[in-house]
Parts: sequence; structure tokens; C-alpha cells
Amino acid sequence: MNLNSLTLKEAKKGLLSKDFSSVELTKACLGQIEKYDKEINSYITVCNEEALKQAELSDSKIKDGDDSPLLGIPIAVKDLYSTKGIRTTAASKVLENYIPQYDATAIAKIKNAGAVILGKANCDAWAHGSSGENSDFGPTKNPWNKNCVPGGSSSGSAASLASDMCIASTGTDTGGSIRLPASFCNIVGLKPTYGRVSRYGIVAMASSLDSIGHFTRTVEDNAMFLNVTAGKDVFDATTPYIAVPDYAKGIKNGIENLKIGVPKEYINSGMDPVLSDLFQNVLTEFESLGANIINVSLPHTEYAIACYYIIQPAEVSSNLARYDGIRYGNDRSYFGKEAKRRIILGTYTLSAGYYDAYYKKAMQVRTLIKKDFEDAFKNIDAIVAPVSPTLPWKLGEKVNDPLKMYLSDIFTVTANLAGIPGLSVPAGLVDGLPVGIQILGPQFSEEMLYRVGYAFEQKTKHYKEKPKL
Ligand code: GLN
Repeated sequence: MNLNSLTLKEAKKGLLSKDFSSVELTKACLGQIEKYDKEINSYITVCNEEALKQAELSDSKIKDGDDSPLLGIPIAVKDLYSTKGIRTTAASKVLENYIPQYDATAIAKIKNAGAVILGKANCDAWAHGSSGENSDFGPTKNPWNKNCVPGGSSSGSAASLASDMCIASTGTDTGGSIRLPASFCNIVGLKPTYGRVSRYGIVAMASSLDSIGHFTRTVEDNAMFLNVTAGKDVFDATTPYIAVPDYAKGIKNGIENLKIGVPKEYINSGMDPVLSDLFQNVLTEFESLGANIINVSLPHTEYAIACYYIIQPAEVSSNLARYDGIRYGNDRSYFGKEAKRRIILGTYTLSAGYYDAYYKKAMQVRTLIKKDFEDAFKNIDAIVAPVSPTLPWKLGEKVNDPLKMYLSDIFTVTANLAGIPGLSVPAGLVDGLPVGIQILGPQFSEEMLYRVGYAFEQKTKHYKEKPKL
């Protein structure tokens, strides 16, 4: 097996028992990038030299007995995370030459845990999108079918992991940007509870929705990664003083008698019939693991897209105001079409006379969507639902039709509106393309989500399927 296709857990074990070095592991990833990334386009910036330097340093620390959680592990970082001394573009020409003076808190923690940063991963500019095609650095291709989108906005983070160019990667999820690409690329992605991981130093999209999480090959890897980044940060007032458990600890405890809800609104609304069939098989797997499947209703789901596409652009219009060409990067003429669309929409819904009709109304609906989940979780432990109503679509298919693109977020935006966590896990292939499911739970229930995800993953082993590059 190639070193670059190891799981995080396997890589860590091999490094600590000195089966191979971090330099060898890092070179294997860089070699894979060199070989395939011209076509996949999952990186905006590759840090060849710095990565090898960090790998050498890791090897000497391993020799000295250091066993920090990510020591010597090569990872890809979404180009939304500020990285000191490494260009951070948010995939927009506005920031094409911007070099941050400091690390995002998540990056500081990742570095402190010993990880090797391979480079900055491509994404939709400012994380606006579901396909990766809104990047000013060109679209990323889906490693499973290079005519298809890898899902967005964390397109490069997902594609790079699925094509074995890193061992794990980081993403952000404001309305699905971790779960959708994880689902489209056959990998695991967690959108944590709002506030579980610090947003400090990460280019803000919509501050009340932005969640910081990771992509890995397996559920256990994901738990190991979240152990590093979760927790209180004095630089982000929305991170609570809630203890961070060891997320990997109870992962193997099984899901016997767990009550798993299936929201009827998620299976009726315009889903591709092949995906409905696959989803029924998923429920059968859960039953065979001892879970009780219970039908539930989240009645305000039908308003979620409308609600999200009012609140999110409102916050985008405010957050993007700081890119005025004076403080950061190039001037506002460098904004792409999608950013402009959202700035205009957001400014409109926040303006006097329209605020009450749109923004305030949307905030009231948001409260009802949150309450739907709270009510449902009184009777069930977790929810299982599809991630996407369709398979990965063809590059170019939706990019000129924003409404069609926005509708692909129909099953994911609800978790962001409610602030709850969601774990996307591979659920099989249809026509050679990956399909994921998401497991949702109450706020701060990540431990349970990992337990449910792990049970399903170990039973089905879909994660073992790899694309032919
Ligand atoms: N696709 C959604 C959007 O375009 C979500 C993006 C995200 O989660 N960053 O807004």
C-alpha cells in the first residue's frame, strides 16, 4: 500500500514504530500532488520546501519520544484558514497576494499537535458555492469522475484527500461545505456544533453559521483530528466553556437500541429515485446494527433554503465590507460574480423598508427550524438523512443557474441554521459516483455522532472504495 493512502491512525502508528519517516510520508503525498494535481486542481498553493522541513523536524521529535497527536502527519488546509507566512487567498483574486501575519487558532493547534502543512486547498471563492466552480483559481475536479464536480465549497480539501494527496484535511461548513464534498468524494466529514472549533483567523463567510471541521478517510480519524482543534478560544467569544471529551474513546460502543429518526421531509423532496433506494438500504443496515428507526417530522424544512439564502447573504455583505483594498488585498473590483450577487442580495434584505419583510422574518423562521430539531431530539437520539438530493453533477451544469445550485443545499443548511453537528459518512456508489449520508444530533453530541458513524462504517466499509485516477 502507498504511504499516501494510509488512514491517519495507520500513519501515526507507522511513524511511531518507525516503519517509515514523516519525510517519506510527506514525499509520498507531494509526489501524488505532482503527478495528479495538474488535472484535479485541488491545491492553490503547495508548500514543498516548508512541508519537508516540518517533516524533518517531526522525525527528530519522534526520535526524541514525542507522540503529539498529529506529529509528522501531512495535511491539506482549506485556503480560508489564515496561515502565518503562507499565502491565504480564500480562492479570490481579491486576496491573491495576501500573506497573513498570524495563524488561525485551528492552525496554531494543528501545528502545535505536530502536523505537516502540505499546502492550501482550493475552494469556492469566499466559500460561496456547492461545486468548487466559483474559485478564481479554476474548478477542482472530482477524482471519481473528472467531468463531475467534487462538491463545494471545500472542494480541494475533499478532492485532495480522496485522491491520496494528503492524510487528512480541513474545511469549513456554513451551509454544507464539509458534508457535501465529503459525500461526493467518498470520505468522512464533520460539521461540528457551532462554536465547538474556533473561527478566529478563518476568513468569515456568514459568522452565525460558519463551522470549522475536518475531512478524513475514516470516522475514527475524524475523532482524532477533532480532539486537536475543539475547545474554548479566548479570541472567539462563540466558543463555550464546555469540556472537550476524547472523541475517539467511546467510538466502538455500538448503537444497540439507539433511537434514530428519519425526517419525512428529507426523503420526499425531489430526491433522485436511485438515491431513495440506496437510502432505504442504509436504514436496513442501521436496523441490523440494533438501532430503532423512527419516523419524525421537521415541519419547517421547506423554508430552510429561503431562510438560509436571506440570512447568509446578509452576513456575507457585512463580512466582505472589510475587503476594501485599503486593509487587505486588491480593491472591490476583483470580487467575482457570486460574491457580488451575495453582497447585493444581503445589502437589499438588510436595507430600511425590507429588513422586517426579509431579514427579520428569516430570523424568526430560523428559530422555528431550530425548534423542530429540539422537539425531535426529545424522542430520538440522532437523525439519519441524505446529504444531497442528487449525485455529483457535471462541471458547468449548474454554475450559470444560481437557484439550481442553491437547491443542492436543501438537506445541509438546516444543521447550520440550528447550530447542530452533522457527520457525513460514505454510503456506497451509484453509477461509479459516491453517495454519503449525514448523521445529525443535538448540539455538542459529536461523541454520539462518531459512535453512530463508526458502527455504520465498520459494518459497510464503503470508505475502502477508491477512485481510479
Ligand atoms: N453551498 C452553500 C452556499 O453556497 C454553503 C457554502 C458553505 O457551507 N460554505 O452558501
